[in-house]
Amino acid sequence: MNDIKNLTLDELKAEMMRLGEPAYRAEQIFGWLYKKSVSRFGDMANLGRNLQEKLSRDFSIGSLELFGVFRSKDCTEKYLFRLPDGPCVESVLISAGGRKTVCVSTQVGCKFGCAFCASGLKGFILNLTPAEIAGQVVFLKENLEIATTNIVFMGMGEPLDNYENLAKAISILHSPEGPSIAARRMTVSTAGIVPGMVHFKKLGLQVNLSISLHAATDAKRNSLMPVNKKYPLEKVIAAGEDYLRSGGRKITLEYVLIKGINDSTADAEGLARIAKRLKAKINVIPYSPVIGLPFEVPEEKRMRDFLKTIEDKNVPVTLRQSKGCDIQAACGQLAGRINK
Ligand code: SAH
Repeated sequence: MNDIKNLTLDELKAEMMRLGEPAYRAEQIFGWLYKKSVSRFGDMANLGRNLQEKLSRDFSIGSLELFGVFRSKDCTEKYLFRLPDGPCVESVLISAGGRKTVCVSTQVGCKFGCAFCASGLKGFILNLTPAEIAGQVVFLKENLEIATTNIVFMGMGEPLDNYENLAKAISILHSPEGPSIAARRMTVSTAGIVPGMVHFKKLGLQVNLSISLHAATDAKRNSLMPVNKKYPLEKVIAAGEDYLRSGGRKITLEYVLIKGINDSTADAEGLARIAKRLKAKINVIPYSPVIGLPFEVPEEKRMRDFLKTIEDKNVPVTLRQSKGCDIQAACGQLAGRINK
């Protein structure tokens, strides 16, 4: 049976029309589901018995099943949810400066096989549904009273490879009758899936876009990110420029810094040049060790010099603090492993 939490508010309104009910019923239902966390149609007091019964016949009200919680020394928390058909999905909660940022997964596994990332090591398993994507934030509120302030779609998977479901989840999370999280507080990160970027531009919400660049030449990017062979740098940059022209917000370029691979001064200069073209800011992420992969994080001084080269070109750049490394919750470490 279809989980009613897969429906956006507009879809639920259409459903109400189909059932011969006024559209405002959809708003009432959203309020019950997301503000009052009711899990039975029979408890939605203002709907009337007739509609409650119709809904119970056509829909279920799903919730994720929590399978495990891991807490890091730095207070980052990783939540493991088990999906009905077996695999696990991970979300990470990062609390800092009054903000509670949830890093949400959009797929189990990943098709794109970036050389430094754990998420694609076992290939692609499945796309999460809208209810499963939004549900990672909804679960924390419903069950643990965690009020998410920011969402980054940077967990397992490639969000723009599951665009329809991502867009619905964003619409649900953004809805004032629902979880009511401002679009500006959400960020979608992509490995540079050009058709997905074209769709994303039409989302019509002020959701932020991050592009995972990781290399400034095609030769280097091909070796780190096989997806670059399909969507080479110039195509990704052009899609970014289109996004900006269509009113998109400032882009962030993410760059995982790996010792001896992409951390030279020439790499930094190439990265700064691309950032200038896209008027982007740069977020440098020190490589987080992934079990079984041969890479290493550069020494402190190399990282500082890399950042300085970029700063000297007047491009805004920040170094992302690695969080949750000890519980395999840092960037690129999410693999849906049950035994941590
Ligand atoms: N597929 C999307 C969403 C994943 S976001 C994307 O590629 O953008 C996760 C971010 O962490 C991406 O920028 C990814 O490249 C980065 N990452 C992957 N493996 C990493 C690792 N071992 N250390 C640090 N960052 C990593």
